[in-house]
Amino acid sequence: MEEPRHDLSYILNHLGEDRSQYFNAVSPPIIQSSNFAFPTLDAFREAYADEVHHHIYTRGNNPTTEILRKKLAALEYAEDALVFSSGSGAISSAILAFLGAGDHIVCVQSPYSWTKNLLLEYLPRFGITHTFVDARDPANVAAAIQPNTRVLYLESPNSMTFEMQDLAACAAIAKQHGVISMIDNSHATPLYQNPIRLGIDLSIHTGTKYLNGHSDVVMGAICGTAAHIRHIFHSETMTRGNILSPHDAFLTLKGLRTLELRVQRSHDSGLVVAQYLEQHPKVERVLHPWLPSFPQYELARKQMRGAGGLFTIYLKTQDISAVENFFHRLKAFLLAVSWGGHESLVLPSVAFYKVKGKPDSTQAPNLVRIYVGLEDPHYLIRDLEQALEAV
Ligand SMILES: *Cc1c(COP(=O)(O)O)cnc(C)c1O
Repeated sequence: MEEPRHDLSYILNHLGEDRSQYFNAVSPPIIQSSNFAFPTLDAFREAYADEVHHHIYTRGNNPTTEILRKKLAALEYAEDALVFSSGSGAISSAILAFLGAGDHIVCVQSPYSWTKNLLLEYLPRFGITHTFVDARDPANVAAAIQPNTRVLYLESPNSMTFEMQDLAACAAIAKQHGVISMIDNSHATPLYQNPIRLGIDLSIHTGTKYLNGHSDVVMGAICGTAAHIRHIFHSETMTRGNILSPHDAFLTLKGLRTLELRVQRSHDSGLVVAQYLEQHPKVERVLHPWLPSFPQYELARKQMRGAGGLFTIYLKTQDISAVENFFHRLKAFLLAVSWGGHESLVLPSVAFYKVKGKPDSTQAPNLVRIYVGLEDPHYLIRDLEQALEAV
């Protein structure tokens, strides 16, 4: 029986795994080979005609990597997917593949920092212009589109203040203007949001966060139609070569096995911790898309099925040293960038203050980003309780 593509258990446990090709091993092998040999010229010619799906050379396609591509495409209701050596590699490949000199891109106002850098510093070198818009209102998106606009770039929610876009409305605007729409869907993961089902053309991920989920791989992915993926493959993957290694593909496959368990646990625990913090007298405000106090709560409920364990709090102080004292008392949270692993993290905006040779962060000093991993939420709450005494 042909299994339905959207059956999560089937995708995570079976899809793309042809075990008879490798001794019926349950764990897919790492095919650590740069190139692949052919028995006949005809076999080579057949493979070369469709390099996206044949094994000729590992810069193009590799058997271990291909299993991961198939699973990620299915998770996003896409026809195909490509994987990259980082999320930023995936994002820049998706954007560059559809832009040339004289073109214009419309982008959400607060994308991931290195996405913003791509538009501000890198694309202008090639004569590509951009407009950042407050895309919480789709009317702003429509108004920003110019005759030379080729790409609409979304990120919903973002990973610091969680601003969201109405994906169906934005996709319709892009279609109406013949613009390709793409989204950084890393925060929600395919478990909680499927932009392609809402009409978005490309769903992009950093797999460094929840997809791999063990803080031991940097990787990225693009999911979309077979035609779009083929175009990106030839214009970006093969020329710039920012590919995922078979070993990192193997590790990500291993991480994906528990995607549902990990993300659901992080969502559930994150919400318990966020609710605790929201009623705490030393906390001014909590920004979490799954709390009714969140400004775009209705939209979150409309287009997402969960929100993960990443959220932001504002402490009830503007005093940098009070925030530092709070931070120094925390024991269960590690100070680190990134998120989506097993370990809970804290990233106060004051970490970006007083940095030698750099201006202070534009984020308020009382902002603290929190990521809740797989620990018991009450263990984390006990730690926060004693640290908040310092505020
Ligand atoms: C981390 C991150 C990225 C970049 O991914 P890398 O794998 O670090 O290159 C992009 N978008 C979001 C939302 C992220 O959190």
